[in-house]
Amino acid sequence: MDSILYKKASQAADWLLPKKCLVCCNVNPNRDHPCCDECYQTLPFQRNCCQQCGQALAANQDYCGRCIESPPHFDTCFCPFEYESPISEQICALKYNQHPELAKSVAQLLAREIKKFAIELPEALIPVPLHISRLRGRGFNQSTLIARELGKLLQLPVRTNVVAKHRATQAQARQTLKQRKKNLRNSFKLKKDLRLQRVAIVDDVVTTGSTTGEIAKILKKNGVDYVQVWGVAHTL
Ligand SMILES: [Zn+2]
Ligand SMILES: [Zn+2]
Repeated sequence: MDSILYKKASQAADWLLPKKCLVCCNVNPNRDHPCCDECYQTLPFQRNCCQQCGQALAANQDYCGRCIESPPHFDTCFCPFEYESPISEQICALKYNQHPELAKSVAQLLAREIKKFAIELPEALIPVPLHISRLRGRGFNQSTLIARELGKLLQLPVRTNVVAKHRATQAQARQTLKQRKKNLRNSFKLKKDLRLQRVAIVDDVVTTGSTTGEIAKILKKNGVDYVQVWGVAHTL
């Protein structure tokens, strides 16, 4: 992504668009959050979910059956919202309708919850990389844009140059968990030494955690001790 273009689009949006609540469209007095206080209460917050993979759980359990049997390579996952309206519309508009300037409000949604729940902060943020062919098609990596805005809000460095997706993979939407894992195997590689102990992988939406799990595997092989996954929303 051309970061200068993105910066300009983001600044233009700040100047031109009145600060409206993304839910009710009334004037939003909150400068650091895209919703007014009333609408904030109505957002689709995740309720009880697995402390390792972030999947919604019905009862008051701490871990899902899958994580007890065969845990992912990351240690914990924080996705504060369910992938439902209005969160899903924001993410879709950012990703598919060419609105990179929305990365800021999406990051604000996530940052507020990270602060609210006093989530442990890592040394650096690592956005989920896109394969170069996907990046060329879209023109930007939404996870990188979200991570950069999040980095500003939480004062954390963003490392975009350490993990690369070196093999294009098929779209995963209709694949089973087993197919996803097979599809993703060895599709990421480390580009340079990390020298970090604690990192958070940043994604827009976390589904099965197969992608982030594959990245976490590489990070852990290369000396990272503690890997968190941060996503705005979680879905299956
Ligand atoms: Zn509102
Ligand atoms: Zn789990």
